[in-house]
Amino acid sequence: MTKRVGIIGGGQLAWMMANAVKKLGLELIVQTPQADDPAVAIATQTIFAAIDDAAATAQLVPLCDVITFENEFINLTALSPLAQQVPFYPSLSSLAPLLDKYNQRSYLERLHLPTPKFVALSEGADLSQLGFPVVLKARQHGYDGKGTFIAKTRSQLEQWLKELGRGSEQWLLEEFVPFDCELAVMAARSRTGEIMIYPVVETQQVEQVCRRVLVLPQEPALVEQVDAIARTLLNSLDFVGVMGIEFFRVDGKVWVNETAPRTHNSGHYSLDACVTSQFEQQLRAVSGMPLGDPALRGTGAVMVNLLGYESTEQEYRSQRQQLEQIPHAHVYWYGKSMARVGRKMGHVTVTLSSAEREEALAIAQNIESIWYQSV
Ligand code: ADP
Repeated sequence: MTKRVGIIGGGQLAWMMANAVKKLGLELIVQTPQADDPAVAIATQTIFAAIDDAAATAQLVPLCDVITFENEFINLTALSPLAQQVPFYPSLSSLAPLLDKYNQRSYLERLHLPTPKFVALSEGADLSQLGFPVVLKARQHGYDGKGTFIAKTRSQLEQWLKELGRGSEQWLLEEFVPFDCELAVMAARSRTGEIMIYPVVETQQVEQVCRRVLVLPQEPALVEQVDAIARTLLNSLDFVGVMGIEFFRVDGKVWVNETAPRTHNSGHYSLDACVTSQFEQQLRAVSGMPLGDPALRGTGAVMVNLLGYESTEQEYRSQRQQLEQIPHAHVYWYGKSMARVGRKMGHVTVTLSSAEREEALAIAQNIESIWYQSV
């Protein structure tokens, strides 16, 4: 029986598994570099090492019945000998097409899933296919918009490439999608191939970083498209675990922006608003249990990220207390010792009594006016 779940990465995503770990009678063993990383506090044991340190993962292996991931910064080649000794879920082969954004887009295209036009910069990108504005993306290690640049003109693009100073093999160029909104979904697949799909949510980014998630009813035709894409993708990868899939909505159709092979910011609302949270679902999937019900418990929810806006060691107690006074609010504070601009310090989910978009937006605005009060 699977009891000891290893997780590579000890940030807030692993930390938010705490209640589910207890509920399911599991133990979490974490590989993470710093003693003050959020998940260290909830782990039975921690291997203190960088997340891409495969020699440290070799020490994690004998302590675990299964190993999973908290992020996509994974060195597949270095881990592959270890996969003979312990199962990794998602498997290394199902992760292989996803870890590089160019390879990911190529994989989506092979599955005939809708995705923006793209080219690898190293292939002497023919920009005439893409036009301007154009989106320059780091093929690997991009997150929270770090590694995504929207160039309005050719000279701006050339200027950035010069300033960024990395080799052309590290970049991808893609067409700028004039989306009317961005959507996301969490989908889970078990070891036996059972699939559960969470509600489709709207995400709102500010400067390419997710700021809000609105969990409100979506048009059935749209949900059907998302559902079909998620099933095709998870089945064809033989994926085990939860995956976040981000979409652009253009004229009533969805295009895949990117996938994250793990729990995801757009699914945090599930902790308070769904029968089974994405964190419990991940643990269920990787440890061979039947999946839980992903349905909403109420009418909807709104989630707002608390992003750092200064460099400081503050704990923001008074702002957090004010946020807790909001009716039906659930405040999560990740306990990071240092705030930095754009760093995810916590989030707030408010469950809604109606499915009114105006109500959700007013709540989001209230949360932001409390959190960003000193900006
Ligand atoms: P990250 O992996 O850092 O989250 P994304 O590829 O998701 O990077 O890009 C971050 C944000 O940048 C997206 O949520 C979207 O708002 C914007 N963006 C990314 N790609 C495009 C595109 N092709 N067209 C228009 N906007 C884009």
